[in-house]
Amino acid sequence: MPWLTHGFTLRHPINSKAKLTLDFNNQIHNKKQISTQNQLIKTLSGKTLPLVLLNQTHSEKIYCLDRFIPDDSIKTADALITRLPEILLGIQVADCLSILVADPSSRVIAAIHAGWRGLLKGVVPKTISLMQSNYSVNPKNCIAVIGPSIGSCCYQVGDEVANAFLELFKKQGGIFDPKVNSLPHSMELYNRPIYNPKTRTLNLSAACRFQLQSCGLMPDKVSSDPPCTFCHNKVFFSYRRGKGRTGRMLAIIGLLS
Ligand SMILES: [Zn+2]
Repeated sequence: MPWLTHGFTLRHPINSKAKLTLDFNNQIHNKKQISTQNQLIKTLSGKTLPLVLLNQTHSEKIYCLDRFIPDDSIKTADALITRLPEILLGIQVADCLSILVADPSSRVIAAIHAGWRGLLKGVVPKTISLMQSNYSVNPKNCIAVIGPSIGSCCYQVGDEVANAFLELFKKQGGIFDPKVNSLPHSMELYNRPIYNPKTRTLNLSAACRFQLQSCGLMPDKVSSDPPCTFCHNKVFFSYRRGKGRTGRMLAIIGLLS
């Protein structure tokens, strides 16, 4: 789709001899960061485009970018929707999910940030629902990709979080039996257990996939098997591994004209 661009950054650029670290934290202000960011944007889109970031707070707030004002104040929200071309939407993550959505028919895109709090608050279904009501998007047409995040291999949670997930997803029929792993690969991919009581681990991307499909997205149009950021610490930043002190990666999506 030549009108659409997207990408996920890593901890370091591939093939970089200088071992440059790509930290896109909340305050992208120093010269080195700005220059790296501009280079990245050029690589993605072939030109210099504005990148809109958010002040992310693990909320279900969504910002609809219907008019672009350069140097406008940064909005506090965890999802962005736009139909404006020549603007890139960015989400900053280290372990949390970044979800990029595009509707090829109406050419509307969204970028969402969600950790366990965001998933429980419903930022993902709320974004899809807003795309439907405000932009006439049909979820059946949408394609989505979930970026690298902490995997079920490493994401142990306490009783409070586990119970909140069990309650919410059980109601919607979405906590799958771990035995599902014995099913054929495609089924396994679409129906990963959201919570594994044996290991007390949560599968954020499976929960997100479930929510996207509940909104009407077709299973084969959701790409959701991202590598684990905690396991692959040399490749990705991990908030948990870094005990809260780590950089941020970017997930970017944009419409080109
Ligand atoms: Zn892992």
